[in-house]
Amino acid sequence: MNKQEFIAELANINIFPTLDQLNQLEEYANYLLEYNKLTNLTAIKTIDEIYLKHFYDSLTIIKVIDLNKYNSLLDIGTGAGFPGLVLKIFYPNLNVTLLDSNNKKTKFLTNLVKKLNLSKIEIVNERAEQYCQNNRENHDIVTSRAVSSMQILAELSLPFVKVNGYFIPLKANVKEELAKSHKAIEILGGKIEIISEFKLPIENSTRTIIKILKTKPSPNIYPRSYDKIIKKPLVK
Ligand code: SAM
Repeated sequence: MNKQEFIAELANINIFPTLDQLNQLEEYANYLLEYNKLTNLTAIKTIDEIYLKHFYDSLTIIKVIDLNKYNSLLDIGTGAGFPGLVLKIFYPNLNVTLLDSNNKKTKFLTNLVKKLNLSKIEIVNERAEQYCQNNRENHDIVTSRAVSSMQILAELSLPFVKVNGYFIPLKANVKEELAKSHKAIEILGGKIEIISEFKLPIENSTRTIIKILKTKPSPNIYPRSYDKIIKKPLVK
């Protein structure tokens, strides 16, 4: 997806980027490619792939939510900033927290956020299970892409969401794992509102965005330590 195709596809989902936003994305893509030569941050290695599989894909969340209406967004396992940093560029109103346990990735993000001159953005180098101890139920929106299966992700993410806020994972083909995660979502106080399945333009692979409303607080015992979550995922 070249830049022109990117702009055309965004118009189809009602996003009309400003020149500043396009320049910020260009700087982001160039810095990612440059940094990636020294430190492996992403398997995606061309500008066109970055525009499709990172930038466009991150923005598809707007199919299910209007982010202008919210204050805070936490992106769990953000890696090189997807979707959280792309969303920050398009929704400067949001207080964004980018969380990742990998120090190389958070270092890259710290440099990039300075280069882009962004404010109201925090980068946290910690595991989600630990960070949650002092940050329960304090984000309007929690996102996560390509981090874990739904069952595990629900336990890592839902405790961060305020009641009446949303957890919105960006997934590929998710039918089987979603079927196994209904109980976990319910135990953690979530209720699925929307499952939006569509094809990524150009390469036609399946994408699924799940919009989960937090209807009641998550019990305090969650999230458990990571070894417990893995050994004994919440039941079907
Ligand atoms: N979200 C990015 C994307 O879609 O390109 C990165 C995906 S990468 C496959 C998964 C990331 O999740 C890694 O950077 C890893 O360090 C992070 N991660 C996995 N488990 C985590 C946890 N429990 N807490 C914080 N970060 C975690």
